[in-house]
Amino acid sequence: MTPVVIIGGGIAGVATALALQKAGLDATVYEAHPHNSQDGGAFLTLASNGMRALQQIDADAVVAEAGPPLTTMRVCNGAGTEVATVPLGDHQDPATRYRYLTRAGLCAALQQEAQRRGIPIQRDKRLIRVIQHRGGVTADFHDGTRAAGEILIGADGLNSTVRALIDPAAPAPRYVGQRVFYGYSRNTVRSNPDCFQVIRGAAAFGYIVTEQQDTWWFARVVDDELPRRALTSGTTTRWKAELSALLQHEATPAAGIVDAARRVLVTNAYDLADVPTWHRTRVIVIGDAAHAASPATGQGASMALEDAVVLAKALRDRPDPAGAFATYEQLRRERVQANITASARMSAPDPTKGRTAPRPPRSPGIPDEALTAQLDWHVPLAPPSRTRGA
Ligand SMILES: Cc1cc2nc3c(=O)[nH]c(=O)nc-3n(C[C@H](O)[C@H](O)[C@H](O)COP(=O)(O)OP(=O)(O)OC[C@H]3O[C@@H](n4cnc5c(N)ncnc54)[C@H](O)[C@@H]3O)c2cc1C
Repeated sequence: MTPVVIIGGGIAGVATALALQKAGLDATVYEAHPHNSQDGGAFLTLASNGMRALQQIDADAVVAEAGPPLTTMRVCNGAGTEVATVPLGDHQDPATRYRYLTRAGLCAALQQEAQRRGIPIQRDKRLIRVIQHRGGVTADFHDGTRAAGEILIGADGLNSTVRALIDPAAPAPRYVGQRVFYGYSRNTVRSNPDCFQVIRGAAAFGYIVTEQQDTWWFARVVDDELPRRALTSGTTTRWKAELSALLQHEATPAAGIVDAARRVLVTNAYDLADVPTWHRTRVIVIGDAAHAASPATGQGASMALEDAVVLAKALRDRPDPAGAFATYEQLRRERVQANITASARMSAPDPTKGRTAPRPPRSPGIPDEALTAQLDWHVPLAPPSRTRGA
């Protein structure tokens, strides 16, 4: 029997499998999608705390190879005036610098590393049911197959099946009032490739110009939630027209970058706060399945990577699942909640927001020293002084 069944072959799931292997526990990952291209090319930034988590499981180098570094953030207002330039995270340490890459690229890098280390990843396995019994857990998949383990980790994202199986009354994701547009353009504007450019105007607009002169950009726009039909049927022409109407009066490069886009994608921004029950007996949820911030702080993937390291350390140091899950929850709740709150505040419609001076991005929730100790592979996790959840 496999000791650990992991549901979801995304960032949290595969990083957890890598971390568990380092802790001496075997895991198998079960992923619903038959291949690795389900998100159509959206990109993300990995922050220094996420890179530090990857370092603990010896996976920072493979991710750094796939994702170029970012060392500074330059912020302009809608008039094109520079408001600030601030360093990003641990910019002086090449191992823990911010990185940017597509979500699919990050998943592929982690999955290839897992396969290189002999960790099985089974695709086209959509979980439909979990049964807990004395001494173990059984997972049923849509194709009629079944997997057994001693514990089951639900890393199955925002619309988690495992979360609903742990607690049918768990809250659902909440629309935070912003649509997020993504695009890739070419030869539009010049910028240092290490610099994350932010324009706080009619939209929260961000862009990075790669060494190859491609511009990777996003725009977060305050608006109503787009119905599913519009998300799937909307065309690049439509999204470009919508964004151009919003950005064309600004004295910034944003409208030109959008006009030059080859392809534009759009998604609604959601968060998921205060899920009361993260674990039940031998089953636990982590990553976006347990807690999800809106995209504004750019921390979701980094939080998922921290989850992976802290949960693996908890299972290493507290071999009984109940004790390990309680330790994990006690260490993670405050931190992830602080990030959700900060991100929701940044996503709220606030006309004065664009005029405030930016601060360098900070690690949310707990002191940096405490986080460093929690992530440091060689530092044992302290047992909890109180427990929450089932
Ligand atoms: C618009 C947008 C921009 C973002 N930008 C950033 C950013 O710049 N920086 C950052 O750090 N984060 C960012 N995030 C957040 C980040 O993408 C998520 O926090 C992160 O992907 C969470 O990882 P995860 O592994 O928990 O979930 P996911 O990445 O969603 O992975 C879950 C996996 O589980 C699989 N799955 C789902 N259901 C089942 C099932 N029933 N059975 C088996 N498998 C299943 C899915 O196919 C998927 O592969 C952004 C998010 C959005 C929406």
